[in-house]
Parts: sequence; structure tokens; C-alpha cells
Amino acid sequence: MSGLNFDVITLFPKAFELINNLGVITRALDNNLINLNLHDLREFGEGCYRQVDDKPYGGGSGMVLKPGPIFEAHDSINKTSKSKTILMTPQGKVLKQKDFIRWTSLDQLIIICGQYEGFDERVRCLADEEISIGDYVLSGGEIPAITIINGVTRLLPGTLGDPKSLLDESHNNFLLEYPHYTRPLIFREMKVPDILISGNHKEIKLWRKTKMYERTLLKRNDLIKGVNGSDFHQRNSDSSDNLKFYLQEENVYPDW
Ligand code: SAH
Repeated sequence: MSGLNFDVITLFPKAFELINNLGVITRALDNNLINLNLHDLREFGEGCYRQVDDKPYGGGSGMVLKPGPIFEAHDSINKTSKSKTILMTPQGKVLKQKDFIRWTSLDQLIIICGQYEGFDERVRCLADEEISIGDYVLSGGEIPAITIINGVTRLLPGTLGDPKSLLDESHNNFLLEYPHYTRPLIFREMKVPDILISGNHKEIKLWRKTKMYERTLLKRNDLIKGVNGSDFHQRNSDSSDNLKFYLQEENVYPDW
């Protein structure tokens, strides 16, 4: 099948109905840019009750997903040539925009969603990558999986109306995006900055670049510090010198 295949192993396939209500992502499905194949873990359950979970060895609270049904579900999926298996877990590497970018070159992403207390430890050997969507714990891997499907799909050529909108956006490089305004010109006494209605495109570009830098410094200083092992930030102790350095065109997108 052409397009990027998302194969999701889940106990709650209905959770993925949300994807059919997500605007551009729905369009990508309709246009076969992506295919969503849901593998209901219950169908691989054991015994007449189709059991998928059991009590943890050693005691303790909660139920653990058994390895058998997950392995069976994973084995049942036809793997393509550029396929990766991702395990959703709060113990994994924390998801970044660059991971979405990386995965766009695949033709299949198999996503395993945990539930309850999680899964039997032996499931980890199925995974090429263990991914967390942040340092907090949710009840299941479905929302993390939808996050990944959404983030990867919007980067695929043909999904967004104007792919140029991806260039300046937050986290594409190490900066947050500049502020946006739309009509009306004055809203509750708050006015759109004059520069944006000046018609001077060179000045607008400069203003936007400056704002990207300023607001990253203000809101997410850690992003700037993380660039090139801090070279960028430490180049000058005075942040106005840093700004001058950054505003030189070739310095806008240093290596990540
Ligand atoms: N007891 C586990 C957490 C289980 S939460 C622990 O302490 O590590 C149940 C399932 O929800 C997990 O197996 C995982 O698939 C999913 N999940 C919860 N939080 C997540 C997160 N931040 N990122 C990715 N998956 C998460």
C-alpha cells in the first residue's frame, strides 16, 4: 500500500475514531497519504475469555498486559521494508519534533499501546524505540499514539495546504515561532503592531526573526542553551550580541 502505514496494537481501537475528526489529518487519510490499521489486542487474547492481562508476579497493585497477545498481534502484521516498532511508555525517550521528522522517511510505524500498570517486561524486545510523550503518566498509550500519528502526518507532503508554514514554526529549529495577528486591527484596545501593516516585507521578516529569538529567550531559554552544546548561547554573554549573530541569515538554523 502506498502512503505511510500506521499499525497500532491497542485494547481500545475506538479511541482512534478521534483521528477521523482532526481536520488535515482526516484529509491525509482520505487522500491515502497515510493508512491507519488498528489491531485489536482483545482478538489476540488467550482462552475463552480472551484474556490479555494478569496479576504481576511478586504481588503489587494493578494488572499487567501479558506478553503473548502483544507478540501474536505484532507477528500478525505484515512488515514493510522501512518499518519501525515504537513502544509507548513513560519510561521511554521523550518525544521531540525531530523524531516526527525522522519517522516521515519510513513506510510503516507499528505502535504498541500499553494499559493498566503497563506491559510484561519481555514486550520491550519488540521495540526499536521506546517513546514517552512527556514526564507524566496517562492511563494508556492511545493518546500518545494519536499524538505521534498527528505529528508525523502533518509533516507529510500534501497534508498541509501550505507546507511553507512548517518552516518557521516552533521546534522546527531551536526557536519558538513569532507572534501572529489577524483581523480586526484593534481588538479590545489591543492593536496589531504597526510593522505588520507597513507593507515593508524586509522589515517584517527582521521583526519576526527578532521576536522568535526574544520569545524563546523569555519562555524557553533551555532550547537556546541546548543548541550545539551551548555554543550559540555562550558565544557572547550579552544577549543583544547573540541576537545580532543570530540575525545573520546563515545562523538562523544552526545544526540541531
Ligand atoms: N506503571 C507504568 C505506567 C503505566 S501507564 C510506569 O510506572 O512506568 C499505562 C500505559 O500508558 C503505559 O504502558 C504506556 O503505554 C501508556 N503511557 C502512559 N503515560 C505515557 C507517556 N507519558 N508516554 C507514553 N506512553 C504513556
